[in-house]
Amino acid sequence: MTNKSGKVYLIGAGPGDPGLLTLKAKSCIEQADVVVYDYLAPPAFLAYASKDAQRIYVGKKGGDHTLSQHEINQLLVEKAGQGLHVARLKGGDPFVFGRGAEEAQELLAAGVAYEVIPGVTSAISAPAYAGIPVTHRDHTSFVSFITGHEDPTRKNSRMQWDVFARSDATLVFLMGVKNLENIVTQLMKHGKPADTPVALVRWGTTPQQQTVTGTLETIVENIRQARLKSPAVIVVGSVVSLRKELAWFDRTPLFGKNIVITRARAQASGLAADLTRLGANCIEIPTIRIEPPADNTPVIDAIHRIKEYDWLVFTSVNGVQFFFDTLFGLGKDVRILGHLKFACIGPVTKQRLADYGIVSDILPETFRAESVVQAFSTADIQGKAVLLPRAKKARTILPEELTQLGARVDEVTAYETVLEQEAGPTLNELLENKQIDAVTFTSSSTVTNFMSLLPSGKAADLMKHVTIASIGPITSDTVRTFGLTPTMEADPYTIEGLVDQLLTHYIQRGIS
Ligand code: SAH
Repeated sequence: MTNKSGKVYLIGAGPGDPGLLTLKAKSCIEQADVVVYDYLAPPAFLAYASKDAQRIYVGKKGGDHTLSQHEINQLLVEKAGQGLHVARLKGGDPFVFGRGAEEAQELLAAGVAYEVIPGVTSAISAPAYAGIPVTHRDHTSFVSFITGHEDPTRKNSRMQWDVFARSDATLVFLMGVKNLENIVTQLMKHGKPADTPVALVRWGTTPQQQTVTGTLETIVENIRQARLKSPAVIVVGSVVSLRKELAWFDRTPLFGKNIVITRARAQASGLAADLTRLGANCIEIPTIRIEPPADNTPVIDAIHRIKEYDWLVFTSVNGVQFFFDTLFGLGKDVRILGHLKFACIGPVTKQRLADYGIVSDILPETFRAESVVQAFSTADIQGKAVLLPRAKKARTILPEELTQLGARVDEVTAYETVLEQEAGPTLNELLENKQIDAVTFTSSSTVTNFMSLLPSGKAADLMKHVTIASIGPITSDTVRTFGLTPTMEADPYTIEGLVDQLLTHYIQRGIS
């Protein structure tokens, strides 16, 4: 892409909540050739980058500088010099203590075009998520953003402690956790009352948000006890007292709960979004991956012979999707299905089919024999040909029941679920450190594969204190075969049902 001129976009990626990225930043990331990001830029945004974009991590966590500022500047100049569009993501806002201005100056000096896309700064948003407004007409009329980590090589300090101490401004210190003791000492030494309210908000706007409050006199000890570390903003001023009344994020029902999602990565987002909205910290440990079948000739053959069938039965969203992918791949469309009757197991499968413009004729709620028999009892399937595109190695109960009802059933493999192992070490570490509150299982294969990631013989022990949320009776049975007991089971057997159960569970336990 050397025929266009390069450009660097200095982008504020916001404080952590993925919803706080601006629309302009998102579209810029989508179009970038190179994405350069550091420690505080929420990694979720890499998902917006095109799959061909280069992704470059430049570090900067405390002392760990993967690249020095000088090297970062060089990198930006070099990539832009190759005619590339570079999205330089920075935490919060790029011009608030982000060294964004220095990068802009370097670019200017090197003759590289740049744009600045402001972001939501942690200086305002972290307090806001803790229920602390940085201004309020009854409390203060101005607010100061202050570095808590003034350049140590600076000869004449710019810190006007007497001014800070005298004013009733809300003081927001960034990068100040290590220096907290000095900050509170200086403020009190210069006359700020010892009972001035103070709050530290760590990882504000994210599910790991942690807030510790106190006064200038007590905050150092409170922080020590809570073992709160960086990154956090320090807020000093009477507005902090409003938190008691205005806190909202900490009061979401699943706040602080670490919940594992075991679904395939491609399917996890709906469940993760629902749980995150309720305040939970979702940890994605995909245990399965959905792939097209190694041999797709049986589905292709079945599609070529579709006129011979009377019924098309789908048992999962994936079955629907891969079947239609194959059908469209053959250059055909839904008109070849016009003579068929349709059945879908479960409402979500039905919805997926509806996306292709087809309404399911019948809808058994589950795979359970009674449910299938009942649903098909009014349908005329005696002597009829049924095509059943589904997962490889799927359970046999459905074809057995349909055969009993007099149908001729052809099962074809429409997709395969493959064991995903990459997150195994992370999972074990989290379980060992008791950093998981709940695990969600959305199918039997997620259970079997999850268990295969744990060291044999240790599973029961590792899972002892973990809440197990199962999507339905079949998944629960699989959980039991491993000697574990599901804490809850969704009813209805859907993702929504599962989220409802988790919500009820935690509200009843009074952890809301
Ligand atoms: N440009 C950034 C600030 C960079 S300086 C912004 O506008 O937010 C880095 C400091 O920002 C950290 O030391 C911490 O004080 C603060 N910070 C960044 N993200 C934060 C978050 N999610 N919660 C609390 N503080 C945060």
